[in-house]
Amino acid sequence: MEYVDDLLREMEMFAREHETPILTEAARPLFLRTVREAAPRRILELGTAIGYSALLALRELPDAEIVTIERDAVIAEAARSFFSRAGVAGRTALLVGEAEKLLPTLSGTFDFVFIDAAKSRYPDFWLGVQPLLAPRAVVAADNVLFRGLVEGERSEEWPKHSYRTMVLQLRAYLRLVRSAEGFRTEVFPEGDGMAVSWRDE
Ligand code: SAH
Ligand code: MG
Repeated sequence: MEYVDDLLREMEMFAREHETPILTEAARPLFLRTVREAAPRRILELGTAIGYSALLALRELPDAEIVTIERDAVIAEAARSFFSRAGVAGRTALLVGEAEKLLPTLSGTFDFVFIDAAKSRYPDFWLGVQPLLAPRAVVAADNVLFRGLVEGERSEEWPKHSYRTMVLQLRAYLRLVRSAEGFRTEVFPEGDGMAVSWRDE
């Protein structure tokens, strides 16, 4: 485990150098708390990047396994190498491709879903994971407050063109989860904002 801690530090440095948007330091305690509470056996992640959040979750839960999806083949290769060095390759299925295309090919159910891929597709991801959720599944979505532009301090600003679709889709995501029957959702301000939806049926 000490070795995994060193590896996580190395990944943080790698992410800084390559400007990879891994889970921010501010969001990590919330992520870990949520993972612990959900205590999943099977995890689904959309947006692997270098595998940082996946490894954090796997370190926390020695019996859990993860299916994680990344569309960028180069960064996925980096994740694969980190998983193997961390000794978790056997608990990891890394799928390379567009999450929206791969979701319908998955089978079984998941107890915890971490949505952290293209922000403009969050509503599609939410709908796409519904058939894959276990009865008491938890769905966490990162970056839902995107720099305060979605709700809160800067939400009155008209977002600049390159952010507009993303911001509108993140607002749509929050409306969707807050009105979803059978779910209880809380939006936490930590980091870039994280929405946690507990399925409660
Ligand atoms: N979860 C990671 C960070 C993910 S960054 C962590 O916290 O450590 C977001 C990643 O999602 C990027 O690597 C990007 O290539 C990937 N991505 C974006 N859109 C995607 C899509 N539609 N399908 C799969 N991966 C996607
Ligand atoms: Mg993120």
